[in-house]
Amino acid sequence: MDNCIFCKIVSGELPGYKIYEDEYTFAFLDIAKDIDGHTLVVPKKHCRNVLDADDETLAHVAKTIKTVANHYMSLGYDGINILNANEACAQQTVFHLHFHIIPRKNDDGVSAWPKLECATADLEEMWNKLKMI
Ligand code: 5GP
Ligand code: ZN
Repeated sequence: MDNCIFCKIVSGELPGYKIYEDEYTFAFLDIAKDIDGHTLVVPKKHCRNVLDADDETLAHVAKTIKTVANHYMSLGYDGINILNANEACAQQTVFHLHFHIIPRKNDDGVSAWPKLECATADLEEMWNKLKMI
C-alpha cells in the first residue's frame, strides 16, 4: 500500500533490522529503542489491524509471533510480552497490522503491562453489555 511505512520496510524500500521472514510475514526491530529487543511482527499483505485482517493472515502472523518468541526464549530470555493496538483510541499509530514482541528477563525492571485503574462499571453490568451468547 502506498505511503505505508511497514509495507515499505517489508518490500525493502525502507531499511529495517530484519529478524525473521517467511512467505507471509516479516519481523523486524522497532525503531523506538525503548526496550532492548522490541520487535514488530507484521503480515506482508497490508491490512489495517486485527479488526480488518482476514483469518488466514492472522493465523500466519500468530505462527510467526510464536516462532520469534520461542527463538528469543532459546537465546536466554525468561518471558515475552505480546502487545497489539487497534485504532487510534487504543493507541495504534501505524495502521499496518503489527504485534509488539517484548523479550523479558527476570528482574529486568521493565513495566510492559499497563496498570489499569479506570473501571467504573460492576462486572455484572459489563457482562450483560458485552456477552455474545
Ligand atoms: P503502535 O503504537 O501503532 O502499536 O506501534 C507502532 C510502532 O512502530 C511504534 O513502536 C514505533 O516505534 C514503530 N515505528 C514507527 N515508525 C517506524 C519505522 O520507520 N521503523 C521501525 N522499525 N519502527 C517504526
Ligand atoms: Zn502496509
